[in-house]
Amino acid sequence: TADKTSFLEALAPESRVKKVIGIVSGKGGVGKSLVTSLMAVSANRRGKHTAVLDADITGPSIPMAFGVADEKPAVTPDGRLMIPARSLEGIDIMSANLLLDNATDPVIWRGPVIAGAVKQFWSETLWQDVDYMFVDMPPGTGDVPLTVFQSLPVDGIIIVTSPQELVSMIVGKAVNMAKKMDIPILGIVENMSYLECPDCGRHINVFGESHVEQAAREYGLKVLAQIPIDPKLAQMVDGGRVEYIDMPWFEKAAEAVLAL
Ligand code: ADP
Repeated sequence: TADKTSFLEALAPESRVKKVIGIVSGKGGVGKSLVTSLMAVSANRRGKHTAVLDADITGPSIPMAFGVADEKPAVTPDGRLMIPARSLEGIDIMSANLLLDNATDPVIWRGPVIAGAVKQFWSETLWQDVDYMFVDMPPGTGDVPLTVFQSLPVDGIIIVTSPQELVSMIVGKAVNMAKKMDIPILGIVENMSYLECPDCGRHINVFGESHVEQAAREYGLKVLAQIPIDPKLAQMVDGGRVEYIDMPWFEKAAEAVLAL
């Protein structure tokens, strides 16, 4: 492996970030932004100063989930650094979508531009005493996420899958990417795992039997959480109230990450 420190962008001298955790998925739409948000919320609830760096430029999920989609980042008095948006519960958020004039403007940036923007969010934002930063990575395991990974000092990776996918293949690709960069994988979160029957509480496997445990065993990884499909969840997230979700099924994931 190449010396991974050689590509790293520097933080601004007044910024401080202790741990950086990247959240990856095989493709878009599996809930990577949701998992990034829930991770941040869990860490914040446990008294850690938490930040989200939104590197998934393709959609406004992160600012929307935290109810800051209409905010514009301020700038430090000397004009050098952007100040992240702050959620109601105190999570710092930086996203390209905060810089757009219109939340509905499409972002059609090419890979290198995305990677450049993310580097800038890292080095030209005032990150004040952040204990945990969660990075919502561009979807997939191709060039763009790889470049982003190589430019930030990522301490750990979380893989998000859903039962409709070829989980073993996706996990395998993520494992290879992580190996190339010598970054540990903290575990897998399966989203849309099951539906809980509102009457009897029984779990219904809408997409058939889950293969996540099997894939985890194959690669020696842990399953950190299995998230149900829940319209209430979508409502909270899309309504900017991700910080107020009750998530008993996420306890183990939060603890595993904060042990880092
Ligand atoms: P990704 O970041 O992988 O593209 P998102 O986290 O943005 O995916 O999720 C896509 C959409 O699906 C969002 O509108 C989100 O609210 C919804 N969603 C994700 N996970 C669930 C779930 N477990 N239950 C209900 N809705 C979900």
